[in-house]
Amino acid sequence: MGDRVIAIDGPAASGKSTVAELVAEKLSIPYINTGNMYRAVTLGALRAGIDLKTKCDEASFSRLFKNLQLDYKRNAAGCYEIELNGEFPGNAIRSPEVASFVSPVAALPIVRSWLSQKQRDFAALGMIVMEGRDIGTVIFPESRFKFFLTATPEARARRRLAQDGENFDGATLESVAAAIAERDRIDSTRKVAPLKPAVDAEIVDTTEMTIDEVVDYISGRIMHYEDSRDDVSGAVR
Ligand code: C5P
Repeated sequence: MGDRVIAIDGPAASGKSTVAELVAEKLSIPYINTGNMYRAVTLGALRAGIDLKTKCDEASFSRLFKNLQLDYKRNAAGCYEIELNGEFPGNAIRSPEVASFVSPVAALPIVRSWLSQKQRDFAALGMIVMEGRDIGTVIFPESRFKFFLTATPEARARRRLAQDGENFDGATLESVAAAIAERDRIDSTRKVAPLKPAVDAEIVDTTEMTIDEVVDYISGRIMHYEDSRDDVSGAVR
């Protein structure tokens, strides 16, 4: 079933979320943002009172998972949105505090296996767009559609600063670039499921492209995959 997942991976602020959401809209299929799942687990840990500076470890998360509820539910607008302990956390998952702890949290094997299972269950939805760091390499290696988005660090920092719903508390381009670079460093060097393109992924450098160009390019590639023509024509309404 996972071969029908459109995997969009890439580093922080590479434009993945916006592109993935628009590609899904264009193909009329669901979109799952797995970064939000890691952010929600991090927020759940902070709300449960775990001091992530000193207690970012397997034992703390093993205890946390006994009581944590995490789901992707349709919101009032009909889009899939992360739900944490029965409520939509909204922009709370995008706070600087969550952003600063999410990569160490995502490096813990217990966190990755807890979320991987939930992510694999989404394959039951049929053709979907799933966006993250390890979708093409680890979660759905069997996927027929794998894209890895990149952009220069400066372009990514600019995009992150301009992103709706971000909360930067007066951060500068330099500080945002440094925070992104640090997350990329942790994400690419961790032992489990490091950030890297799948060997069969198509790498798309978006530095000089507009969002619409990237969306058109990716959806065009999907629609022209010869062996998937029937799947896509069924999905596009
Ligand atoms: O995509 P976003 O930047 O919101 O992801 C937040 C963090 O979640 C990443 O920096 C990474 O540490 C983690 N993540 C991950 N694997 C994924 C998606 C996100 O490790 N599939």
